[in-house]
Amino acid sequence: MLSLAKQLIKQLFKKPETNPFPSKRVPKSVIKFMKKVKKGEAKINEPVKTPPRFRGRLIYYEDKCIRCKQCIRVCPANALEFDEKNNVIKHYVSRCTFCGQCVDICPVKALEQSNEFLLADYNKNAGFLEPKEKEVEKG
Ligand code: SF4
Ligand code: SF4
Repeated sequence: MLSLAKQLIKQLFKKPETNPFPSKRVPKSVIKFMKKVKKGEAKINEPVKTPPRFRGRLIYYEDKCIRCKQCIRVCPANALEFDEKNNVIKHYVSRCTFCGQCVDICPVKALEQSNEFLLADYNKNAGFLEPKEKEVEKG
């Protein structure tokens, strides 16, 4: 009983562990809030840092790719396709399980997993994170 009381008193003075995101107070509309952030009218409450080797949205370095299609063969979620018309690998984020098998098998490191975890999109065909977006992410 005493240890429970101690614990309760401790909790009273502790900060909450939850990190409110994207803003400190729940906005009426997250979409409107994010639009304001883009315009510089509101400030985002930074998310908790991702751990090392986090498996986020994939980045594709088209110039490195030798079109061996090994990534497509190993993908268990059928999230990669070869786009014959544009001669590139196509990725479907909505199907991806972020297992990283495509990254591991690629012989020329043309695929990489970023720290990007904000994956909600109106476009169900959303694909790779652009390498230039990765640079923005690094700051
Ligand atoms: S991370 Fe896994 S599921 Fe996603 S594209 Fe690569 S192999 Fe497929
Ligand atoms: S495994 Fe690598 S080099 Fe081969 S097609 Fe996929 S991305 Fe390109």
